[in-house]
Formats: sequence, structure tokens, C-alpha cells
Amino acid sequence: MLESKIPDGPLEQKWGHYRSTVKLVSPANRKKLHVIVVGTGLSGSSLAASLGEAGYQVTCFCFQDTARRAHSVAAQGGVNACKNYKNDGDTVFRMFYDTIKGGDFRSREANVYRLAECSAQLIDQAVAQGVPFAREYSGYLGNRSFGGVQVSRTFYARGQTGQQLLLGAYQALMRQVAAGRIQLFPRHELLDLVLIEGKARGIIVRNMDTGAVEHRAHAVVLATGGFGKIYYLSTLAMGCNASAIWRAHKRGAFFANPSWTQIHPTSLPQSGEYQSKLTLMSESLRNDGRIWVPKNNAEQRAPNDIPESERDYYLERRYPAFGNLCPRDIASRAAKERIDSGYGVGPLKNAVYLDLSRAISEQGKGQIEEKYGILFRTYQKITGIDAYTEPMRISPAAHFSMGGLWVDYELMTNVPELYAIGEANFADHGANRLGANSLLQACVDGYFIAPYTIPNYLADEIKTGPVDVNHSAFTAAENSVRQQLQRLLDIQGTMPADQFHKALGRILYDKCGLSRSRAGLEEVIASIRTLRDQFYGELSVPGGPRHE
Ligand SMILES: Cc1cc2nc3c(=O)[nH]c(=O)nc-3n(C[C@H](O)[C@H](O)[C@H](O)COP(=O)(O)OP(=O)(O)OC[C@H]3O[C@@H](n4cnc5c(N)ncnc54)[C@H](O)[C@@H]3O)c2cc1C
Repeated sequence: MLESKIPDGPLEQKWGHYRSTVKLVSPANRKKLHVIVVGTGLSGSSLAASLGEAGYQVTCFCFQDTARRAHSVAAQGGVNACKNYKNDGDTVFRMFYDTIKGGDFRSREANVYRLAECSAQLIDQAVAQGVPFAREYSGYLGNRSFGGVQVSRTFYARGQTGQQLLLGAYQALMRQVAAGRIQLFPRHELLDLVLIEGKARGIIVRNMDTGAVEHRAHAVVLATGGFGKIYYLSTLAMGCNASAIWRAHKRGAFFANPSWTQIHPTSLPQSGEYQSKLTLMSESLRNDGRIWVPKNNAEQRAPNDIPESERDYYLERRYPAFGNLCPRDIASRAAKERIDSGYGVGPLKNAVYLDLSRAISEQGKGQIEEKYGILFRTYQKITGIDAYTEPMRISPAAHFSMGGLWVDYELMTNVPELYAIGEANFADHGANRLGANSLLQACVDGYFIAPYTIPNYLADEIKTGPVDVNHSAFTAAENSVRQQLQRLLDIQGTMPADQFHKALGRILYDKCGLSRSRAGLEEVIASIRTLRDQFYGELSVPGGPRHE
């Protein structure tokens, strides 16, 4: 039923062969073809800019008030590329192998090989755009390591890698807006997908200031990011929900691996009941930081008063080859195991220590500040603690969606002409994906892959002409959207949506997060059904008649 369309031939020749044989659209025909891109994060901005530059008509949407506020802006640690600048043995194959292994051997090999192959190009592209990657004193680009690998292949821009990459993509996007090839609509939310004769031909969006509007195209691309926020307490913003891909699913697009959410080991712990977000401390801190808990689970002393012999550096003890840089899922599960066994630290005993004191004494405070200063400042602002003098407290939190819409090698879903790129697709590189591969995937999908694969289909649409917005499929989709909104407004209950979201997050984290059991999962199905019934019986939408 699902055809992954992996090209024939040896792994290392597949992408080259594809690009050399794929259908092209001549420059004169490109302006007749129209593509909708939903999302302006790294994947959406880079794709829209690339298609605009090539001469296609593009309409682009996001629900933030500017394209630049897509959640890619939050990424801190870095982006992987196998450039082997450190001469430490990195190659395309080694990056492919690390990623396949890091993904628990669940990933599609052809896609992962292509990702590694395109990684070096991305760094050149970003440098050409002016992205200010960290540099060595010599002027060469700096690198660091992320978990699950034994080479240094992570390029970074202090603690703002996502923001700096996004500024590069945003400039490219705005250049095309100014050139008239992209129409950009911030504060517009996708509410439904329109299919005509089984093909994605448009979307229903809500202008968040005025109301619903229809848009048509020859192809629709969802670049709408991840859905880790279903866990409520996570490192993500409220906007990182499954709203767009869920609506596509309702129209027939399949999900794959929806249960795979990466739980990041170095988030800040929850500190109170009213908290709605957790802050990430980049994984890069594990390059120099050591993770430990007290050996005594009744320990009351401050961390600096606990002698070395009474500390349990449990990652170094259990995983000597990778130590503190073991893959994220292993580090997270080990932390949860220690916390659940009563060894957690902090007022709620829900954290472990991340200690940079040895690195500070070996390398000097200046060197550590140079590498991680922004993270130390963020930590101090949030907790009031100076992490140069006292270990940070960290805890695992929901972070990155590795599931999403199923896509084939061309990044098309099972719905013809509907594509999903970036974090919105089911993540080529699998289950417990390695850090710093997700910025890479978002950029590579948008700059280098989809600009080749989408035209393969558009080539057959040259004679289609403009899609008819008066087609009954548009009216039917808009009516169904209005009915659903009315249904929610009519409930007129007393519970805010946030309460349901929080309850759902707690259920998911406890029973579907880091470890699962059959009994736990069965229990959860029943709890979620009860919660859903409560939602449709008690939801309060502020601003309705009840609140006037
Ligand atoms: C705190 C944090 C730190 C991270 N650090 C790293 C790191 O160091 N290295 C790394 O590789 N990765 C990191 N990641 C992951 C990485 O940032 C993301 O995977 C990547 O940026 C996702 O890009 P994207 O383009 O797919 O989606 P996003 O940047 O999330 O963009 C989604 C876009 O879709 C739009 N959208 C969504 N739903 C709708 C809708 N219904 N209607 C209209 N528009 C919609 C939004 O407005 C937005 O424009 C981090 C993530 C977080 C949260």
C-alpha cells in the first residue's frame, strides 16, 4: 500500500542518480505553478525561498506574527555536518552509521545516507548567507561533540544556532517576498486541507485577526514542526502542537512512529504547579559537564559539600565508552531511574546534577564562558543560581518529535501532492535521533531535497491551469471547519482548554514517556477517553456568550 520510492542502486549513488534522472520544469513554465508552504521555520523558509528563487509561485503561512518567530529560533546547541574539520576520522558513511545506530536501526537507510551526504553543503550554504558560526582562533569553523558519536561534527553559533540559521533562511525568504514570487501570510492558521480528485489542492486557513480564507495551489507542503507539546511540560512553545498534521491525517495522510518523542536529558526541572514550559539547557554542556547524584538517597548537604567519594557519576559508571555523552534516550532513562529510585536532588527531588567544576578548573572560567556563557546566564536568570560555582540541576523533558506524517523518499505523504518536511514528517533518522540532526534535517529538506522532488510532480501539472477555488471541495472543507469551531463554542463549560492539556500531558509523561508497559498503556487509553468526554462536556472558550 505504501511505496517508499527508494531509487535503485548502491546507497551512495541513489541521490545522485535520482537528481540526474528526475523530471524538470523549464524556467518558462515555473511561474504557472503554485505551491503552498505552511510553516516558516527552517524547513518552510528554506523551501519557500528555494522555490521562489527557482521561479515558482509560492504562498507561505505561519501563525506567529512574523516568520522569524517559528520555533526553530529556540534551537541552541548546533547542527551536524561530516566535514571532518577536526581530522578525527569523520566521513559520510560514519555519520550515516552513527545516525542509523542512534535511531535504533529504525530509520530508512537511503534517506539517512542522503542527509549525511548533504550535510557538508549546508554549512557552506549557511556561511555564504552570513550565519556567524563559532570559529577557532585561526579562523576555521569550530566544532563540538554531541551525544552518541565519537567525533566532533557539530557546528554552532554560541547558544543560538537555530536563531542564526533561521535569520539566514528568513533573509532568503524575504528576498523572494520583495521579488514578488512569495506571498507571505503571518498570523494565519491552517484549519483544513482541500483534496480534489484525491490530490492536495489547497488549504483552509483562519486569518487570526479576521476569519477563514481559502487558498489554492498545485501542491501543498506542511513544514509545521513537531508536536512534543502534547506532553504539556516540554521544551517547546505552545505552537508546537500537532494541529496541521492532525488535520492532514483526518484527510487521509498517514502517521508513522507517532509514539516516538525524544525525551531530552538536560532540561531544567519543573519547579511548581503553574509552570507551562520547561527550559532546555543545551546538550553541548555534556561535552564538559559530568552528571551525578549523591550515593546516599537521604543526602541533605549542598552539592559542593558532598565529597567525590560520595557521588555517583552514574553515566560514567554504566557507559564507560561514551560516559556523559551517551545518546539522549539512554541519558534520560538513566536519570529517570535514579530520580524514581529516590536519588533525585533539589526541593522536589526531581533532578540530577550537571557539574562543570572540573572543566572550569582545567580549562579556566573564561574558556567555559566562551563556549556556554549564554546557557549559564539563562540558568542564573531562571533559578537564581550561579552555575560557575554550583552544579546545575537538570531533568529529562519531552523535546523532539520523531514521529509525524509518513513520507516517501521524495518527502511526499501518501496523499498525492501533499508533502511534509522538517520535524513534521516522521523523521528519516528514527527513534532516538541524535542531537543536532534535526536542524540539519529541516534545512536539508528545504534547501536541497524538496526543491528537486516537488518539481518531479509539478512537471505533470503544467497544463492543469489555476486550481478553481469555487470547486465544491473548498466549500465543503470550509463548512466542516466552521461546524467544528461552532461545536466548541457551543459547549459553554467552565474548564479552560489549558486544564485539559495539562491533564493529558501528565498522563502521557507518566505512562507513555520514557518507559511503557502493556498495563500502563491500557490504563492510559481509558484515561484519555474519559478526558476527551470531559473536554466535549466542560470546555470553556473565553469570549463566548457566557463571558460577555
Ligand atoms: C529548545 C529547543 C532546542 C533545540 N536545539 C536543537 C539543536 O541544538 N540542534 C538541532 O539539530 N535541533 C534542535 N532542536 C530541534 C529543532 O529546532 C527543530 O527540530 C527544527 O528547528 C524544526 O524546524 P521546522 O522547520 O520543522 O519547524 P518549526 O521551526 O517549529 O516551524 C514550524 C512552523 O509551522 C507553523 N505552523 C505550525 N502549525 C501551523 C498551523 N496549524 N497553521 C499555520 N502555521 C503553522 C509555525 O507557525 C512555524 O512557522 C531544538 C528544539 C528546541 C525546542
